[in-house]
Amino acid sequence: MFKKILIANRGEIAVRIIRACREMGIGTVAVYSTVDKEALHTQLADEAICIGPAPAKDSYLNMERIISACIAAKADAIHAGFGFLSENSKFVDMCSKCNIVFIGPSADVINKMGNKAEARNTMITANIPVVPGTKEPVYSAKQGKKFADEIGYPVIVKASSGGGGKGMRIVENKEEFEHQFNTAQIESVNAFGDDTMYIEKYVRNPRHIEFQILADKYGNVVQLGERDCSIQRHHQKLIEESPSIAISKKLRKKMGDTAVRAAKAAGYENAGTIEFLLDKDEKFYFIEMNTRIQVEHTVTETITGIDLVQEQIKIAMGEALSFTQEEVCLDGHSIECRINAENPANNFSPSPGKITNLHLPGGKGVRIDTALFCGYTVPAVYDSMIAKVIVHDSSREKAINKMRSVLGEFIIEGICTNIDFQYEILNNIDFRAGNISTDFISQTFRENS
Ligand code: ADP
Repeated sequence: MFKKILIANRGEIAVRIIRACREMGIGTVAVYSTVDKEALHTQLADEAICIGPAPAKDSYLNMERIISACIAAKADAIHAGFGFLSENSKFVDMCSKCNIVFIGPSADVINKMGNKAEARNTMITANIPVVPGTKEPVYSAKQGKKFADEIGYPVIVKASSGGGGKGMRIVENKEEFEHQFNTAQIESVNAFGDDTMYIEKYVRNPRHIEFQILADKYGNVVQLGERDCSIQRHHQKLIEESPSIAISKKLRKKMGDTAVRAAKAAGYENAGTIEFLLDKDEKFYFIEMNTRIQVEHTVTETITGIDLVQEQIKIAMGEALSFTQEEVCLDGHSIECRINAENPANNFSPSPGKITNLHLPGGKGVRIDTALFCGYTVPAVYDSMIAKVIVHDSSREKAINKMRSVLGEFIIEGICTNIDFQYEILNNIDFRAGNISTDFISQTFRENS
């Protein structure tokens, strides 16, 4: 049993983890940068340790300082949430060398799945369908173009180390290949320090369908249904829902079984996500595995009643899963909207600043995960996501209506947010009818894409 967990993150996810620990009777240690001295996670945890100045590289990405804080506070384990060090195998190694449990999979598995080109090959070996593409790493536009000509256009050039939609470019024809390849590669070098690329066939108008996995130390692996994350802007998710209306019971079983096989092929342990693209002919393809808790885990929690963060902690403590696949039941429909501090009038550029007025809606089937409070200043240096609104109702239509009502009531003053844009999406006739794909926003709101 863990007595104390250090949370190596900030914002709403740090608060979410602190709450899970508290419910389980586990002590919490927050770490914070100087700009987060008054932040909610710093205030809520039992203990809080300053780990450096605002830039993430000096604080939330500073492995030595976080490990030192953990040793000083005598915490047994670290939960890294998402982003920052959550998928950093070097950090996981450092934890184990210092006898600290990292709440997540092993460094080996993170390495194997973190390199997306290598993950594709692991899946090919396990007979999991992947998007047609390159098997070998690609380092130059000349080498890549040869593959692209073979696969046939359109293709998508992707960074092996990519994440968050970075280092990715669609190429419509051979004339633009070199330029798009080089742009993606430069972006990858700048963001991830890696020039390794791979190329996939570009699937037109697919849905992004992902399965939540839980795997314990004893080889038990279950899937908790899918999330439809097709509403994206620049390959970044904005709205997620579960279940997906595009999926029949039969297809859910088939994709879910494939996801479990994929997790087993990766030798996976803890909570993870298998991401697929689903095309109009109900063919699905693995695109990547995320080896952390995800932003959108909340919609799965809502329809399954399972607390995923608590499950992560229990698995890390060596407990076996307390339920079987047959015992997982999916109840009703859940939708999440990500609320970002950004200015829609200025191409959704970040909009940090002081919150001068805040009203959080509530009611039956409404959950808001946030670290905001009135008087709080949203810093400019971190991610712009400031709140997640999650609703639950018996049908998709009712959930959409509930979300509209919640967004209409939500008040955040002092900064700009994307609440009105989210409201517009929920009102869109195609969204309401479920006619969505990953190209929905770029095709529907051309001026905003
Ligand atoms: P990241 O790790 O940066 O999130 P992913 O590989 O998960 O990148 O892809 C993010 C999104 O990019 C997908 O949800 C989808 O919208 C789009 N995408 C990725 N690969 C393809 C593809 N082969 N064809 C069409 N769209 C794709």
